Amino acid sequence: MEYFVNVILPIPLERQFTYSVTPDEADFLTPGMRVAVPFGKSKIYTALVLTIHNVPPNAYEAKEIDQILDEVPLVNHLQLRHWEWIANYYMCSLGEVMRSALPSAFLLESETLIIRNDSTHVEESQLKDDEFLVFEALQHQSTLKVHEVSAIVERKNVLPVLNRLLDKNIIYLKEEIYEQYKPKLVKYVKLGKDYLSDDALEALLETLSRAPKQSQVVLSFFQLQGNSKKPISITDLEKYSNASKAVIGSLVDKGILEEDHIRMDRVRFEGEENSEVKSLNVYQLQALANIKRSFEEDKVTLLKGVTSSGKTEVYVQLISEYLGKGKQILYLLPEIALTTQLISRLQDYFGERISVFHSKYNIQERVEVWNNVLKGAEKAQIVIGARSSLFLPFDNLGLIIVDEEHEGSFKQFDPAPRYHARDAAIVLANLHKANILLGSATPSIESYYNAKLGKYGYAEINRRFGNVLMPDMELVDFKEALRKKRVKGHFSERLLEEIEKSLGNGEQIILFQNRRGFAPVLECLTCGHTPQCSNCDVTLTYHQYKNQLRCHYCSYHTALPESCAACGSPELDTKGFGTEQVEEEVKKLFPEAKVGRMDLDTTRGKHAYEKIITSFEQQELDILVGTQMLTKGLDFRNVSLVGVMNADSLLNFPDYRAHERTFQMLTQVSGRAGRTQKRGKVIIQTYNPYHQILKQVTTGDYETMFTEQIYEREQYKYPPLNRIIKITFKHKNYNTLNEAAEWFSGALKTHFGGTVLGPEFPSISRIRNQYLKNILIKIDKSESLGKTKKNIKRIEKTFKSVSLFRSVRVIYNVDHI
Ligand code: ADP
Ligand code: ZN
Ligand code: ZN
Repeated sequence: MEYFVNVILPIPLERQFTYSVTPDEADFLTPGMRVAVPFGKSKIYTALVLTIHNVPPNAYEAKEIDQILDEVPLVNHLQLRHWEWIANYYMCSLGEVMRSALPSAFLLESETLIIRNDSTHVEESQLKDDEFLVFEALQHQSTLKVHEVSAIVERKNVLPVLNRLLDKNIIYLKEEIYEQYKPKLVKYVKLGKDYLSDDALEALLETLSRAPKQSQVVLSFFQLQGNSKKPISITDLEKYSNASKAVIGSLVDKGILEEDHIRMDRVRFEGEENSEVKSLNVYQLQALANIKRSFEEDKVTLLKGVTSSGKTEVYVQLISEYLGKGKQILYLLPEIALTTQLISRLQDYFGERISVFHSKYNIQERVEVWNNVLKGAEKAQIVIGARSSLFLPFDNLGLIIVDEEHEGSFKQFDPAPRYHARDAAIVLANLHKANILLGSATPSIESYYNAKLGKYGYAEINRRFGNVLMPDMELVDFKEALRKKRVKGHFSERLLEEIEKSLGNGEQIILFQNRRGFAPVLECLTCGHTPQCSNCDVTLTYHQYKNQLRCHYCSYHTALPESCAACGSPELDTKGFGTEQVEEEVKKLFPEAKVGRMDLDTTRGKHAYEKIITSFEQQELDILVGTQMLTKGLDFRNVSLVGVMNADSLLNFPDYRAHERTFQMLTQVSGRAGRTQKRGKVIIQTYNPYHQILKQVTTGDYETMFTEQIYEREQYKYPPLNRIIKITFKHKNYNTLNEAAEWFSGALKTHFGGTVLGPEFPSISRIRNQYLKNILIKIDKSESLGKTKKNIKRIEKTFKSVSLFRSVRVIYNVDHI
């Protein structure tokens, strides 16, 4: 009897591949184990076994596998079913799902670059012969390719030895080089313990009268303390008292001042559980009871709770209950880098039982989390992660929480699988018979719609915790302010007044502008020419700090020209404004204030987010200017004012979700204001103060927003009332692209009843020298989505057999476009 295995290869081809195995191998193998297999002329790939059988392939001679790589399955059957759903639903291959799902360390292949890890001490005598050979070669040469390793160990299949070296931390894979995080330590001073009473203080000042310098420092310390509630850093004290570090040092030595390091270490979690779970208030309890009732009916459940209503504490209660039952818990977040605050909060409750999984973490950490989940280890009982954590090998999942479920970043746009993590999580929960809770202050239209239909269970909290009032929102008519000359730069007088007030009270301010750079357009005043990217169909953004024009879609940049490229006129002006300009203006208007900025440009480094968030949290900054990064779940205690510089740019986005997103973004950013006792203030500057969405934001009227959006989507056949699939064609040749898209849409229109729109160029029709064209398909809920997809795939097959079209890329986005 012959034996074969069908495997998934990590490539975009939509079929399984059959290899032959020996009877012993067939006996040993189970689905979910990895095998190394030859592919093409000389490549070796890591493949995953799907089935073991006796049917030879009929179109080709099955090759033998090279080697079995696992002793136990790396991937369980629920994962494989989940992958299959994703591949089917999002119209991609299983191989593409596998490539996204497995940490790259599990997918060694011949092109992978290997690098030695200098931080591991290697006991050479402990190495096996082949391990030593590779290790030795890496002493002479810092990187090796897999096929070079092959030459060194004189063997074709080197994946096992590399896997062993990876396990021992002796090597890295190229793309994984990890920048070590150094926590920022800030030195603060406070008054020594012995001097806290008035008497002791008086006596101290008496004795210090003979040491004028020291006395000066102590007096300065009190003045600083009187001015603001902030902790006093040594640098500030030095500046303010004009004293040297030595003088301050001698006061510390005497115990009059004490040093204190405030350290926000957010990457390593040797957390101790040091908080008791808080007892919930009546609103939270009510919501929790509703959630549980709905869980009993096995329903997906939506929790809608206004910002700062204490949703997180409700999650914490649920988590403890599922922990008690010995279940695994997955807590999904939109972007982990932005939610370090939340992680340390949960760490306080659950300590070591939390693992964080993030695609930016280094390979060892990721593999470690994977293995811990696979083993069902206690330290991975709760996994917090961004969308890729869906793919961990859970086999005992009891609860999934999808926090900020409305967030667009749950959708993966590139590469395939182009899946939505919330929706894929619902399917995962279903496979595990686990419960799933979606939480948000501003639910997505889809989820709220499902809750209204009774398809999802529902709970809500309409009050902020501690009865803190929702912030007071004010719309400022910027056109009117301009007309009355009540503006300075991009600031209305109203906003300036409020900034001044907050600064005066020692409170912090957030300024929101959803564009980075200094200005999105540079324009010639003489001929109106605006510089464009040479690779993309967009204007170049002016970045003042670097004195450059930059493209936000590719890496193109150029020095700021001194004159117009079209007519030579030196009179160039900017149009529109971004965060850089807001920062510059606010610094000029409030020279005393410390201003920081948070956008893509200031957060490129691996831990840049943490640093900015930490320094704002520690009140080293008074004002934080930023893009939508600021809108996500941050909990700052001392922010009393949020200013939205220009709400209109959000509304004018060419997308059927623009209004929904504007509502969500503005509500979320407003929610950063006044989270403690004092009521927060929000100022929204706009040219359209009568726009219905802005009114709905200021009155917190989610319900009306929802009703109007549903009406519009019904009219124009958009989700959740219809389904949509967007097909994007991509090619460097304009004519080929046009022909291809026409051909495809022609075929669709003949073979298919639904609405086929386009092909049309998107608003940015060329990116990185590739032209883009879209076809939009709207499918009635009564039609079968599965059948439609099959039809489309069939058309694609014929399409790909036309030689002219073979090089045209076809990209599918389902539901979320
Ligand atoms: P949300 O996630 O809804 O924005 P949070 O969970 O961040 O709200 O809660 C807002 C603030 O109120 C947090 O500082 C939190 O610690 C506090 N809080 C919420 N619920 C409770 C509770 N039951 N007891 C004490 N403090 C609470
Ligand atoms: Zn010109
Ligand atoms: Zn470009």
